Formats: sequence, structure tokens, C-alpha cells
Amino acid sequence: MRRDAMERGQNRTHSAGMGEEQSSAVGITVEARPAPPSPPRFSFYIDIFGYCNLRCPSCPVGNWEDDASVFHHGVMSRALLEAILDKAMAECTIAGVALFNWTEPLLHPAIHELIGVVRSRAIHCAISTNLNVLRDSDLLMRANPDWLRVSVSGFTQEVYARGHAAGDVEVVKTNMRRLAEAKARTGATTDLELYFHKYVDNEADEAPMRAYAEALGYRFASDWALMMPLEKTLTIADPANPRATLTRADHATIGRLALKTAEALAVTSKHKVTSCSLQEDFIVLDVNGNAILCCTCLASQANTIGSYLTMPIEAIQSARRSHPMCKPCMSVGFPLLANYAVDGLDDLAQRERAAFRCGTQPVAGLAPAGSAQMADRQL
Ligand code: SF4
Ligand code: SF4
Repeated sequence: MRRDAMERGQNRTHSAGMGEEQSSAVGITVEARPAPPSPPRFSFYIDIFGYCNLRCPSCPVGNWEDDASVFHHGVMSRALLEAILDKAMAECTIAGVALFNWTEPLLHPAIHELIGVVRSRAIHCAISTNLNVLRDSDLLMRANPDWLRVSVSGFTQEVYARGHAAGDVEVVKTNMRRLAEAKARTGATTDLELYFHKYVDNEADEAPMRAYAEALGYRFASDWALMMPLEKTLTIADPANPRATLTRADHATIGRLALKTAEALAVTSKHKVTSCSLQEDFIVLDVNGNAILCCTCLASQANTIGSYLTMPIEAIQSARRSHPMCKPCMSVGFPLLANYAVDGLDDLAQRERAAFRCGTQPVAGLAPAGSAQMADRQL
């Protein structure tokens, strides 16, 4: 699940503008014409590359079969991105464009060009990366994305590899330094962020990673890790109506969460949710330019709304609002969990971490940090 610099939960700014009166310069009162409706405002998540080099167990790339109907391998061409943005600019206000959703944008061989496509239209451009691959740091920084997040879950390789399976945190650290140096060399104004995914057992790694990142000029941010995709979350919420298979590895990942999915949904489900900001404020496109239900679900056939270029945005939104996944999703308050938008979630996670520290909440295969029995559990 991605968090980004674009404002989640930001409402559209439709204004009826009806019924006002204006006075003309010569003092004659005339009835105002109704103001034209404001165009809808959306942030876009666009997968420009079809897969990822890591296999994080809390992400569908790591916990779902590499099924061609879900992961659409390939690269987005510059021409397709241009056509998408030109259509989007004609039919809505674009709050920003994130060139990622479930995949790794820096694997795109011309990522710098695609950033340029977005920024040349004066649109905010965001990148989120695991930073295990950084080809040409100067080329990337010269493209000057507005915001670039590096996601990690540990400072030591032993801890990092539990959440970022197949990744190498020493490579990430080296690439963080290369990126910071390239930013200085090129005069880029990119907001560099280091984003730390918090689990029950990686507390000790947070401070050294924060210090490392801040010394290089990265802004530090963190959040509790969640289990994704939505299909797995809804299966945890309602095992009698499974939408996914929960494997042994999934149960181990769920056990490692500080913010336990079932407990969090017990909190969010107490709130009545009748709309979803992930639906109303964000448009998600796969690498082929197809609109997907939202950023939390699989890009499966059932969740594919249709080609963004051939469907008017009103038709896309209408299909999303009536999608069969949304009712059960809202009934457990998942949109509140996805946005961390309800009180009590932080307390739940802190209690879980405290129990883990005391050794009363062991994670399968793991002992509290500092224990000689710490197992290397790479999922
Ligand atoms: S790095 Fe990101 S996209 Fe890749 S597997 Fe991990 S969470 Fe998924
Ligand atoms: S209600 Fe749930 S499934 Fe529907 S768009 Fe929102 S998060 Fe996605």
C-alpha cells in the first residue's frame, strides 16, 4: 500500500454557485448566471513498469502468484503517458501524478523522461521506490521529481529482509547517498523522504535509519505496515467469504504486524463509511493504461474498469462507485484503515509492540530484539 505526497482524503471542490446576485458597475442588479461546475479533482497513480524486483510479503508482488491476469508485465511508453495526461487535463483538475502503484518505477529504463512528461505539464510528480536499483542518479535528479520516497523496513539486513524480501539494505543505503549527492550536484529541488514501515519487531532499527537518512538530507516519515492487497484484508475480516488464499507465509506476516489487521478492522468497522476518498480523489491506472478500482486492490480482471483513454471520467467513476467490492470494504471501514483516519489505531499498534518487548507477544519464528534466539525469517 502506497502513501504519497498528494493529499489523501482531499475533497473535490464542486461548487454549485447558484442563486447569487451581482451588481453591475452602473448599479443595476442582475441575476448571476450559474457558475459552470468545477471539474473534478484527482490525483493519479500510474504504474509505468509492470512488476517489481523485490518480493515484500505484505505486498501482492510478494504474496500473490505472478499471474499474468494480475501483474501486467511491461513498460509504459512515453506516448501512452502523454496521451493519458492530455486526456486527464481536459476532463479534470490534476492534483498530482504518482508514477507507481504496486511496482518499482526506477526499473523503467526512461524514468527520467516520464518524470519530464509530467513536470513539463506543470503537474506535481511523485516517485516511491525501494531504491535497490539506481541506474543514473544524475539523470534522475536532473529530471527533478517533486517528491521521491524511499521505503524501507530496517537498518540492518537481517531486519530489512523480513519486510523487503530479496532486497539489500546496504545497496539501498549506498543509493540513498548517491541520490543525495546527485541532488546537490544537479541543484534538484526534490523532496527526498525516507519512509520506514513499522512492524512489531523492527523498533530498534528505526532510530539508526532515521539518523542515517536525516544526515543525508532526507525527511523522515513512518507508518504502521498493513497487509495488502485488499483481497487478503477482506479475507481476514470475513474468513467465511474468502477473496484470497491466506497462506502460512501470510499468517506469519500478519503475526509480524504491529497494527493487527483484525483488531484494526474491529475499530474501523464501528464507524459508518459511506464514501471512500481512494475512490473519489484518486485514479489508478495499470501499465497498459487501464483504470483499476483503487490503489489497494489487485489489478485483476474483476477490478479493471476499462481503458482510461476510451472511457470518459464520469463513466469510470460511475463504474467504480457501483463496484461489488466497495460495499463489503466500506462495511468493515477499510477506507479508514487505509488512510489511518480513525483514533485508536496507533494505541493498538503501540500495545502490540509493548507486548512484544515484554516477550508476551512472540511472532512466529522470532524472539524480541536483542535475543540470541532471533531467527532469520525471510519470507
Ligand atoms: S518494493 Fe514495493 S512494489 Fe516491490 S514488492 Fe515491495 S512493497 Fe511491493
Ligand atoms: S471502498 Fe474499498 S474497494 Fe472501494 S475504492 Fe474504496 S478502498 Fe477501494
